[in-house]
Amino acid sequence: MTRTEQSRLDLFIDRMVSQRACLDHAIALTAAMKGPVYELGLGNGRTYHHLTQHISGRDILVFERAVASHPDSTPPDDRLVLGDIRETLPATLARSGPVASLIHADLGGHNREKNDKFARMISPLVEPHLAPGGLMVSSDRMYFDGLEELPLPPGAVEGRCFIYRRG
Ligand code: SAM
Repeated sequence: MTRTEQSRLDLFIDRMVSQRACLDHAIALTAAMKGPVYELGLGNGRTYHHLTQHISGRDILVFERAVASHPDSTPPDDRLVLGDIRETLPATLARSGPVASLIHADLGGHNREKNDKFARMISPLVEPHLAPGGLMVSSDRMYFDGLEELPLPPGAVEGRCFIYRRG
């Protein structure tokens, strides 16, 4: 590794700082909307906890295949959509329609190539959920046909987080 290359710690910190900056920005931009917020991938529950702390007046629905979160950061059963998002996203769309004001996705692991392949596959499943004016924040680049990519807010690092908007 050369001295100019980023360490894994550097990359992790950039991702976390960018995630928080982008979430805070997207929460503020959608604050006047009433539609639900979708959290795709609960994990430890850190970003879900952040959403609960900073969003009021909107339901937060969590999509996760296997809950393993911190007890403080676990959604109630009626806010949890348990299962693989490749099945639960289409089922939720059929039930609720395009209502989401904000969608946050943090679904990837350590393999960037695998994450990119998965992001390509789920992009058409995520895109139709956003209400007009709704935003999507993702840790991976997404491949949308009809959403606009927005500039990142101050504090976020290019390539570590992405924001998209339905016009
Ligand atoms: N943002 C979370 C946090 O702050 O703690 C971390 C999320 S973790 C990186 C990714 C989560 O996405 C894992 O819990 C995993 O089970 C979930 N996940 C990945 N692929 C999924 C799929 N196809 N369907 C449902 N959940 C999935």
